[in-house]
Amino acid sequence: MIRKTLIYKTGVEYGDYTLNHVQGCSHGCKYPCYAFMMAKRFGKVKSYEEWTCPQIVENTLTLLDEELPRFRSKIKLLHLCFTTDPFMYGHEDICNLSIKVLKKANGSGVRCSVLTKGILPEKLAELPLDNEYGITVVSLDTAFICQYEPGAAPIQERIASLKKLHDRGCKTWVSIEPYPTPNIIQQNLSDILESISFVDKIIFGRLHYNKMVSQYKNHKEFYNCCAAKVIQFCKDRQIAFHIKNGTITEKEDK
Ligand code: SF4
Repeated sequence: MIRKTLIYKTGVEYGDYTLNHVQGCSHGCKYPCYAFMMAKRFGKVKSYEEWTCPQIVENTLTLLDEELPRFRSKIKLLHLCFTTDPFMYGHEDICNLSIKVLKKANGSGVRCSVLTKGILPEKLAELPLDNEYGITVVSLDTAFICQYEPGAAPIQERIASLKKLHDRGCKTWVSIEPYPTPNIIQQNLSDILESISFVDKIIFGRLHYNKMVSQYKNHKEFYNCCAAKVIQFCKDRQIAFHIKNGTITEKEDK
């Protein structure tokens, strides 16, 4: 597929500018995936099956050559990606293109952040700039991951790839979002936090658009408690943290 533009400013909390050089995502998350819901609503894809057959934007590198000179002075951090996954598991073509995108951006003096449910290639450690590499970890339970992130990488492989980059001096982060309520899975958040305690930053956020959350009577208290746990864990270890808007419920909102 061909696009007219690629880089755009995003309104989301921890983003600045972003690009999505693929349409669709074979990880096929069932939380549900907000990007899939939007793509379906705006007629970009007709079905889940179509969504999980990703299409590369073929003119990605040409568009970057045109857009980077215009945007580079404005971009603090270019995020890959918001509506797809740059290191889609089992898609070497997408992974290779993502590395080319990072190289081009870094070559223009633009720092990047990456978020994936795939495997981060170790050669990312060879990139020159101060990029930030992140993975999503909402559970360590293989059966849950297979059900909710059916096409994504096994969780321990994800963490191991992030640890390798950390050991080579890269900045690393983890997104614990969308975190499921106990009626979806019973698990100990502390185990997840311990498994990724080497990272520089943790982002925590609640699950949205899933009726199971509202069916869990104490979901507001649950998310308040989880957020407090994440904050304390990060403070104790001097890890940066961000709790996504809407995750903590203030008393007067109850
Ligand atoms: S990895 Fe992200 S973009 Fe891909 S299906 Fe899951 S939530 Fe959607």
